[in-house]
Amino acid sequence: MSDIREIIVPLDCSLLDALNVLNSSEYLILLAVDQKGVLVRTITDGDVRRLILERKDVNVRIDEFSVQNPVVVSTSATDADVLKLMRLNEINLIPIIDASGRPVGIHMKANIDKTILLSAPHMGDHEQHYVREAFDSNWIAPIGPNVDAFEKEISDYVGGSHVAVVNSGTAAIHLALRLLNISHGDFVFCQSFTFIASVNPVLYQCATPVFIDSEHSTWNMCPLALESALEVHQATNNLPKAIIVVHLYGNSARMKEILNVANAYGVPVIEDAAESIGSFYQGKHTGTMGKFGIFSFNGNKIITTSGGGALISHDKDMINKARFLSTQAKDQAPHYEHSEVGYNYRMSNVLAGIGRGQLEVLDQRVRTRRAVLQKYKDKLSHITHISWMPDVADDYSNCWLSVLSIDPKKTNVTPKILIQALFDQQIEARHVWKPMHQQKLFANNDYYFLKDKSFCDYLFETGVCLPSSSSITISQQDFVIESIIKVFTGNNSENMD
Ligand SMILES: *Cc1c(COP(=O)(O)O)cnc(C)c1O
Repeated sequence: MSDIREIIVPLDCSLLDALNVLNSSEYLILLAVDQKGVLVRTITDGDVRRLILERKDVNVRIDEFSVQNPVVVSTSATDADVLKLMRLNEINLIPIIDASGRPVGIHMKANIDKTILLSAPHMGDHEQHYVREAFDSNWIAPIGPNVDAFEKEISDYVGGSHVAVVNSGTAAIHLALRLLNISHGDFVFCQSFTFIASVNPVLYQCATPVFIDSEHSTWNMCPLALESALEVHQATNNLPKAIIVVHLYGNSARMKEILNVANAYGVPVIEDAAESIGSFYQGKHTGTMGKFGIFSFNGNKIITTSGGGALISHDKDMINKARFLSTQAKDQAPHYEHSEVGYNYRMSNVLAGIGRGQLEVLDQRVRTRRAVLQKYKDKLSHITHISWMPDVADDYSNCWLSVLSIDPKKTNVTPKILIQALFDQQIEARHVWKPMHQQKLFANNDYYFLKDKSFCDYLFETGVCLPSSSSITISQQDFVIESIIKVFTGNNSENMD
């Protein structure tokens, strides 16, 4: 609550008076009260503007205008109640009144919207330094020293692969497909359990995605389902031109088995490591094992440039070609000469500056996110209805998101119920990705899974992503944990055991 005396005006003041008070106050609202000090209406700067236009006279008294019932709350309203009201009425300020209707304070959205986010950007200490450098040298765009340095630093970080930074992870996937000459009529095998961005670029190239189920030990592409799909396509002489495997939520796919199968059929693998920078598979960085790997630096990822991505490969020529394609495919010539389709996909020098600062703190962020997941596991271990995303002994996950799965045989609590209950507490939790083969967009695409029940359908029915920001505070996570426990103990779920 802040001091609101300065914004209380008598109902018989003039529009001009109101305008003056509004102008000198830090608030964007006035509280007009009657002689007893009871709040009658609020006046925003927008109201003043409309009233002046209506009457063309700044000396009219406020009480000449019709009274609206202001949205108010009592002193006992909780932040959650107030926030709900603000969302409902699409307003950012709500006066607080006492029992006799006098204003005693005001809620401001910015101060109470303390939603605990799923995955918030978390800057380190040096991002601004690199961005400053770009400003000082006026090297704002395009390309530039931060871009070169960021590519070099990513390359060093992942152990020497070549790197081209671009303006999104999606663009990086698109470039990989272009570089593999995927075009109309080609098939691309894709993990079904993923975010749409893994697959959209296949459509950009007018190729056809075929979906593969996930397996239990990693939640990522099932090598056996992949193999059976390859057998079927081999038989009709329709082998895919690429396989897009995803390291979801930071967990590596079973790359050894997948690469063995893919190599046996001579199909290149693209690793969608958008969510797994900083993760290892048997000691190797995810994204460095296939023909191509991609990272994303979107705002919700473990490190971010606000928007951005990287394409990586051991093939230097391919990465050079990616740089060429991502800057409009300009041929070598003294004028603008073009002989193939290009894109405007390159990362800007300013954003690469953010990326350089973020890369410095990546390992720290990974440690924190791993600790966040570990704490959930420890503190919720007594809730036997839930299990956690797998943790493979030989691998090291960046634990981008903490994801649990609720056993529907043991409780009535569904992901929807849990997510809503947490939302009511200003906690952002989400469903896991809805599998691609369930999307309307792909209603006519093939899907391969083993046995009678597709596993990623089960994950979608039972999975929930919890707040996992590296900036989450101890008390915030305690609150999330407490809230989860309440949902499970309040729903009589024990009865179903
Ligand atoms: C975020 C994400 C992408 C796309 O990255 P953008 O940078 O947002 O384009 C691709 N695949 C997966 C699995 C992702 O989570």
